[in-house]
Amino acid sequence: MADVIELLSEHIANQIAAGEVVQRPASAVKEMLENAVDAHATDIQLIIKDAGKELIQVIDNGSGMSPVDARMSFERHATSKIKSIEDLFTIRTMGFRGEALASIAAVAQVEMKTRRHDAETGTRIVIEGTEVKTQEPCATQPGTSLSVKNLFYNVPARRNFLKSNTTELRNIVDEFTRVALAYPAVGFRFWNNGTEQHRLEPGSLKARIVALLGSSYEKNLVPVEQRTDLLNIYGFVGKPQAATRTRGMQFFFINGRFIRNAYLNHAVVQAYEGLIENGSFPFYVLFLEADPARVDVNVHPTKQEVKFEDDRLMYSYLGAAIKHSLARYNIAPSLDFTLNADIQRLPSVNLPVTDRQRDDVQKSYLFNAFASGGQAHAIERSDSMKQWKELYEIAATPSVMPSAAMPPETQQSAAFTGSEGKSRNSMMLIQGSLLVTTVKSGIMLIHVRRAQERICYERLLREWNNETTASQQVLFPATYELGAADALVLQDALADLARIGFDISPMGKNSFAVQGIPPGLAAGEEKQAIDEVVEQMKHESPDAVSSRTDKLLATMARRMAHNVQALSQPENQQMLVDELFACAQPDLTPDGRKTFVMLRKEELDAMLG
Ligand code: ADP
Ligand code: MG
Repeated sequence: MADVIELLSEHIANQIAAGEVVQRPASAVKEMLENAVDAHATDIQLIIKDAGKELIQVIDNGSGMSPVDARMSFERHATSKIKSIEDLFTIRTMGFRGEALASIAAVAQVEMKTRRHDAETGTRIVIEGTEVKTQEPCATQPGTSLSVKNLFYNVPARRNFLKSNTTELRNIVDEFTRVALAYPAVGFRFWNNGTEQHRLEPGSLKARIVALLGSSYEKNLVPVEQRTDLLNIYGFVGKPQAATRTRGMQFFFINGRFIRNAYLNHAVVQAYEGLIENGSFPFYVLFLEADPARVDVNVHPTKQEVKFEDDRLMYSYLGAAIKHSLARYNIAPSLDFTLNADIQRLPSVNLPVTDRQRDDVQKSYLFNAFASGGQAHAIERSDSMKQWKELYEIAATPSVMPSAAMPPETQQSAAFTGSEGKSRNSMMLIQGSLLVTTVKSGIMLIHVRRAQERICYERLLREWNNETTASQQVLFPATYELGAADALVLQDALADLARIGFDISPMGKNSFAVQGIPPGLAAGEEKQAIDEVVEQMKHESPDAVSSRTDKLLATMARRMAHNVQALSQPENQQMLVDELFACAQPDLTPDGRKTFVMLRKEELDAMLG
C-alpha cells in the first residue's frame, strides 16, 4: 500500500492557524494594534471600511522594520519578542507567538509599508494568501502601515459566516477601546468609512476614560491605587450610581493585556455589596501589574484568560483595595470591612481612616440610606429619580383626607375624577390607552402600554434574578419548525428561555415543541415571542451576555404588556400607578421610551393663555 501521510503546504498550515488567530475583523484589529504598541508607537491610526470586511489599516510611528524583518514578519513563528524559553517568563509585550501576521496574510490581501527611523527608504510588500506578490523599496514615513483588504476573500465559508456590519463593527470598537484604555500615553485615531470617530490625545488614564467612554464618567470615577511588592493595582472604579444593568463597562488589564476573569470580577462586585442593586454591574478600569513570572501568559492569544500563581490572594487583595477606595472617597462605610488576616496586614489597608473621614461617611446620604433602609434600593441614583419619587409620593397619597385639607391644585382638578371616589387619585382613562391622573403640581399622562411594559420588565427581572419564574403548561403543545441557522440560535437560547418560563424541547431536526409558556403571555403568542427572541439574538455581539438577558426580558415584557387587560376598573388604574412608581426606573420603558409626561399647572396656565 502507498504511504498516505503528507506534510501540509505552508499555505494550508497558515490558513489553519488563521482559523485560530483571526476569527473576525476584530481579531485582526486587535493583533495589528498590539503590534503597533509593541513597536513603541506613540501615534496609532486605525482605519476601517465596511466593518473591516473591505479594509483594516493600522498606521503607526513605531520602530518600523528593515527590509529583511519586513519579509520575515509574515513567516509563521517569526517573532522578535522571544529568543529563548526563559523569555516567556519575563515577557512584557502583547504578542510573542509570531503567528498573527502569517495568519492574516493567509486569509487576506495585505500591503505593508514600513521604514525604520534611521533608514532612508522604506519597504513595500504585497502578499495575497501567503504568496508574496511584490517586495520593493518605497518612500514612506518612519513606522509601519499595514493594510488588510478583503479579509477571508479566499475562505468563503468564513466570509459568509461573518455577522452583520453592526455586530462586526461593535467588536472592532470593543478591541479599539481596550487597547486605547490600556495605553493612555499613546495617541489614537479611529476612522470608520471615512469619518473620524475618535481622536484621543495622549494623556492621563482619567482623561482617556472620559474621552473614550463619555464625559458622564468625569464625576463618577473613584481612583484606586495600591502598591506592594507582590502586586500593583491602579485605575478607577465607578461610583455606585454609575453602575449599569448591562455588562460591558468592566475592564481588567494584567500587565497591559486585557483579560476577562470572572473570579476577579466577583472580587470587585462583592466590594460594592449593599451599594448597588443585585444584577447591576459597577464600572471599572483596573490595571494589575504583577511579576510576569507569577502570571501565566502562555495561554491562547485570542482567549482573554489568564492564570495566577495565587488567585485567592489576588481576590482578597483586589476586593480590599476597592473597598478601601470607596471608603476613602466616602462612598461606603469603612466600618464593616471583613478582611482576612493576610489582607489586614497589608500596609495600604492599614492607612488610618481619620475621625473626620469617618464622620463624613456617617453623615453621607449613602451611609444613612444604607444603614437605615438596609436595602440597596434605598439609594438615590440620580436627580431624575428624586423627581419621580416625589411624584410617586404624591400619587400614592390617599385622597380620603378631608377635601378642605387638600392642596388647592388637587381640588381644582377633582373634576377629572373618573369614578365614585373609590380610587385614591383622580383618574381618567382615555380610549383605553392613556391614563390621566392628578398630582399636586398638575396632571400626569401615563402611557398605559408602556407603563405595563416597564412593570412586566421589572417583574421578569426580579424573577430572573431569584430564579423563581413559573411556567404555565399549554394544553396542546405546538411544534415549531425553524431554518437551520435559526434553530441553532434557539437551541442556544433554550436555557435562558427556560429561566423566563418557557418549557421548550428540541424534537429532532430543527423542530421544537413548546410545552410551557410564561404565565403573563397569552396562549397562541408563544410563536411570535420566540421569533422575536431568535431575531434579536441573531444580531447580538457574542460577548453581550448580560445585555442579552436585558433584551430578552425587554422583548418578553413588550409582548406581555400588549396582552394586559384594559383598565376599566378604577382599582386597576390605581394599581397600575402604584406598580409603576414602585419600579426602579418608572419613567422609561426598558428600551428608553417615556412612560409618562407631566403637565405642570404653570404649563397648563400658559397653554390657556
Ligand atoms: P508577534 O507579535 O507575536 O511577535 P506578529 O505576527 O504579530 O507576531 O508579528 C511578527 C513580528 O513582526 C513581530 O515580532 C515584530 O517584530 C514585527 N512587527 C509586526 N508588526 C509590527 C509593527 N507595526 N511595527 C514594527 N514591527 C512589527
Ligand atoms: Mg503580534
